[in-house]
Amino acid sequence: HAKESGRNTFRFFTEAMNANALERLQLENALRQAVERNELTLYYQPQVSLKDGMVVGAEALLRWQHPQRGFISPARFIPIAEESGLIVPIGRWVLREACRQARAWEKQGLPPIMMAVNMSALQFRRDNVVAMVREVLEETGHEPDRVELELTESLLMENAGEVLSTIQQLKGLGVRLSIDDFGTGYSSLSYLKRFAVDRLKIDQSFVRDVPIDSDDAAIVRAIIQLGEALKLDVIAEGAETIAQVEFLRREGCSEAQGYYWCPPVPPGVFQSMLHRGIITPEADRAMLSIG
Ligand code: C2E
Ligand code: MG
Ligand code: MG
Ligand code: MG
Repeated sequence: HAKESGRNTFRFFTEAMNANALERLQLENALRQAVERNELTLYYQPQVSLKDGMVVGAEALLRWQHPQRGFISPARFIPIAEESGLIVPIGRWVLREACRQARAWEKQGLPPIMMAVNMSALQFRRDNVVAMVREVLEETGHEPDRVELELTESLLMENAGEVLSTIQQLKGLGVRLSIDDFGTGYSSLSYLKRFAVDRLKIDQSFVRDVPIDSDDAAIVRAIIQLGEALKLDVIAEGAETIAQVEFLRREGCSEAQGYYWCPPVPPGVFQSMLHRGIITPEADRAMLSIG
């Protein structure tokens, strides 16, 4: 009996694995179609000055509304895009669309903002990122110094020589660079000196418990001070509560983003916020309860 049930268990696992592989393959095909059919869209999350509540930037975040499956999270499909190489056309599209949108808002007379775009390490490996960024800037006519490319610590740690040269060329184009999810990757700090990054994004996992966890509070405080010492800008991610915001403000963090002010929103909603310039969480939460 034991043997039999063992065999059944094995078969169950194999089937589960096949189902998983099949599901991945289906998702990959669906993603390929989504790129062709323009099912991908960008939402924008405001980046807010902690001094005065002004909207100073936007982070562009990919959204995929599948006609049958509904909303699929980037946490699910970005890894598939990376493994399949689809990250190259998708990454180009994201940068182009974000720059086009930022330029369109500026042309409408809205206050200029910093447009932040996530970059995958796989784009650096599979694409000529420097040529891609240069082409998109030329095509869209967007000012390079109002574009920020969000890089990950793991990218900066891999194959240092080649990445260093790419980073220097990107800086040469005039774009800004930030380190996303700062503090969660390799903690070698020497690359902060070696790579000309402009900004650190404090990961939301540290921000979450600052009001109640003295270790997280110490880490966030240390990153803010590191930024000051190295003359890097610092922005906190995932600020959801007034207690977190007050902590960040008290510790001298200059900017933040998070549900406290606003989740990522469609371009039309972002535009109306930009039009008013300032975010007032209470009023905006009422407005945003539509979606
Ligand atoms: P990320 O770049 O670190 O983006 C921050 C994530 O936190 C976003 O999730 C955002 O919606 C979410 N977030 C914002 N404020 C809050 C908050 O107050 N609380 C909580 N709990 N979450 C908050 P999202 O949009 O699901 O994206 C997940 C990840 O997928 C991103 O993490 C990024 O790594 C990746 N991603 C998204 N769009 C792109 C893209 O265009 N290209 C690439 N390569 N990666 C992308
Ligand atoms: Mg990001
Ligand atoms: Mg992040
Ligand atoms: Mg992340």
